[in-house]
Amino acid sequence: MKHLLSYWNVVAVRIREAKHILLLVDYDGTLTPIVERPELAHLSPEVKECLQRLAKNPHLTLGIISGRTMGDLQERVGIGGIIYAANHGLEIEGPGLSFVHPAARKIAPLLRSLCQDISKAITGIKGARIDNKGLTLSLHYRLVDESQLDELNKIFTEIVKTSLASGQIRITPSKKAYDIRPAADWDKGKAVEFIAQKLTGEDKPLMLFLGDDVTDYDGFRTVDMNDGISIFVGEETTKPPAQYFLYSPREVYLFLGMLRETLSSQ
Ligand SMILES: [Mg+2]
Repeated sequence: MKHLLSYWNVVAVRIREAKHILLLVDYDGTLTPIVERPELAHLSPEVKECLQRLAKNPHLTLGIISGRTMGDLQERVGIGGIIYAANHGLEIEGPGLSFVHPAARKIAPLLRSLCQDISKAITGIKGARIDNKGLTLSLHYRLVDESQLDELNKIFTEIVKTSLASGQIRITPSKKAYDIRPAADWDKGKAVEFIAQKLTGEDKPLMLFLGDDVTDYDGFRTVDMNDGISIFVGEETTKPPAQYFLYSPREVYLFLGMLRETLSSQ
């Protein structure tokens, strides 16, 4: 992977040449640093202002893609007139856009009951927490003591095994959490494709996608297949998931500023 800030000259040329830019950004770990509890991840005023200015640029469409719920994500970002893709893209809202994946809608009652069962079963495990996000569930174990992780895994595996075997749900790991999602063939990559197709205009937009976690890799693949620019946030890895990387949300902020400057100097 190439460090994006070191290759900015190359990227800036592509940005200047593009008729339209579709900038899609993950929230946790990309726009905000990873924190102990997800409710503590707030968007800093400076990043928000930068995003707001980018969103006003007629050559750019901004979208935030996250595993959070729609209500939570919209409240945390708080910018009007942009695209929000919540629950890993199972719900998408924005100007002229309103989408909920049908398989996700169908599975909501099952998730409710799984959530109740898991929540009862983990009461003895300090720090474990299950979040019902309507169309998905997240079991957080960042604060669980290592000595109890095996027990937590056992409880979790036992409760989900029937729904997993019947093909109704799938489990995806993320940073110190398990996400339980509908088994639909849908991910952040499909959501990126969906959003790009809905953009009006004759020219295909230049897609930029930024994310820090395993669920973002689907987004990187879609962007790479469409000659876009994929950007991983985190330390350079041996198995590169994207074309470029930025070390931290701080560098993401620097990048957003450089993007804004490049676009406004046109
Ligand atoms: Mg993330």
